[in-house]
Amino acid sequence: MTTALVLSVLLALGATAWALQLYRRERMLLRWTSHGMLAAVPAPVLPGILGEIGQRVDRALRAADAREAQHAQRLESFLSAIDASPNGILLLDAQDHLQWINQTAAGHFGLDMLRDRDQRVTSLVRAPAFVDHLQSGRFDEAVGFPSPRGDAMLSVTVRPYGGTMKLVLSQDVTVRERSDRMRRDFVANVSHEIRSPLTVLSGFIETLSDLPLTGAERQRVLTLMRQQTDRMRNLVTDLLALAQIEGAPRPAADTWTEVGDMLAQIEVSARAHDREQHRFLLHVDSSAQLSGTESELFSAFWNLVSNALRYTPAGGSVTAQWSVRADGTGEFRVTDTGPGIDREHIPRLTERFYRVDSSRSRETGGTGLGLAIVKHVVQRHDGELLIDSVPGKGSVFRVVLPAFRVRVPARSPVRNRPEPVN
Ligand code: ADP
Repeated sequence: MTTALVLSVLLALGATAWALQLYRRERMLLRWTSHGMLAAVPAPVLPGILGEIGQRVDRALRAADAREAQHAQRLESFLSAIDASPNGILLLDAQDHLQWINQTAAGHFGLDMLRDRDQRVTSLVRAPAFVDHLQSGRFDEAVGFPSPRGDAMLSVTVRPYGGTMKLVLSQDVTVRERSDRMRRDFVANVSHEIRSPLTVLSGFIETLSDLPLTGAERQRVLTLMRQQTDRMRNLVTDLLALAQIEGAPRPAADTWTEVGDMLAQIEVSARAHDREQHRFLLHVDSSAQLSGTESELFSAFWNLVSNALRYTPAGGSVTAQWSVRADGTGEFRVTDTGPGIDREHIPRLTERFYRVDSSRSRETGGTGLGLAIVKHVVQRHDGELLIDSVPGKGSVFRVVLPAFRVRVPARSPVRNRPEPVN
C-alpha cells in the first residue's frame, strides 16, 4: 500500500516536473516568437520536438530573410541601373499618378520623387502637348515639347504596360534639334550661295544668245561670267575642304612640317595674288616645325593672309609673323591695316557664311567659309584662334598652337628679325 502510494506520489511529481519543463520550453519558444525577437535572435536551443520545431522555423525564417535581402538587392541594383539611364523614365499607375521616376526624368521635368509621388502627372507636367498626348490614348509616336524650365527640348514616348499602367520615356533632344536646324540652315545657305551666281550666269547666257553684241561688250560679259564661275568654284572648293576636314582623323602628333617652308609658299602665293597692291611682310622668328596635317595648317594660315589682303584697301600693309613663345607655344599672327571689324561681329566671324560686309566678301571672291575652316583646323590641332580688331585701324588674327605641336631644332637659325607690329 505504502509502496503504491510512494510510487503514485513520485509519478505525480515526475509528471508535474515534466509538465513544468514543457511549459517552460513553450514559454521560451513563445517569447522567441514575440514581436521583434524572431528576426533579431536565433531560436532557443531546446531538446525534444519543440526544440526541433523552433530550429526548423528559425532556418525557414533565415532562408526567407536571405531571399528577401537578395530580392531587395536585385531591385536596388535594377533601380540604380535605370536611374543611371540617360533617358528619363516615369512609371504611372492606371490613373496617371506618379509611382516612380529616375534622376534623369526628375531633371527633365523638374520633379521630386518624395514630394510628387502619387500626384497626377498632368498636374505636375502641364505642357499642353504632353497632356493632350497622354489623354489621347494613342502612343504610336513620340511627342516633343520644351522642358518646364525652358532650357531643353524633350521628346517623350509613352508605352502602356501591365494592362493599365504607363511607362513614360523622356529624352533631351536639344543638341539633336540644334544640329538638325544647323544642317537645314547650312543646306539653305549653300543653295542660296549657288543660286545667285547661277541666276546671274543664266542672265548672261540669254544676253549672249539674244543680243547682237560688239566684240568689246561680248568680252565684258564673258569676264563677268568668269567671275561668277570662279565664285562657284571657290565655294565648292571651300565646301569640299570643310567636308574633308570634318571627316578626317585627328591630325597626327608625330608628322612634322617645316613652318618656314610652308610660310615661304604662302608668301609666293600672296605676292602672286596681290600683284603689289599692298606692302606685304613675312617674319619667321624661328625655324620651327609643327606637328599635324600640313594641308590643313597651310589652308588655315593661307586663309588668314588672303583675308587680310582682300579686306585691306590697296596701299595698306599686311604682316604675317611666326614666332615660338617662351612657354614653347607657337604663334602665327597676321596683322593688317584694313577696315577693322566692329566688336559685335567678332564672336560670329567663324560661323559658316557669316560676313560683316557681304558685298566686299563676294567682290573679292570670298565664300564666307574661310574663318570657319581656320577655326576648325586650329581646334583639331589643339590650338586657339584669337581675333583683335579696331574699326578703322586694322585687325590682328592669331593662331596659337600648343607646345607639344611645336618643335624647334637645336640652334635654329633666325631667318628674319621681326619689325615691331602695331
Ligand atoms: P569670306 O570668304 O567672306 O572672307 P571668312 O569666313 O574668311 O569669309 O570671313 C568672314 C568675314 O569676316 C568676312 O566676310 C569679313 O567680313 C570678315 N573678315 C575676315 N577677315 C577680315 C580682315 N582681315 N579684315 C576685315 N574683315 C575681315
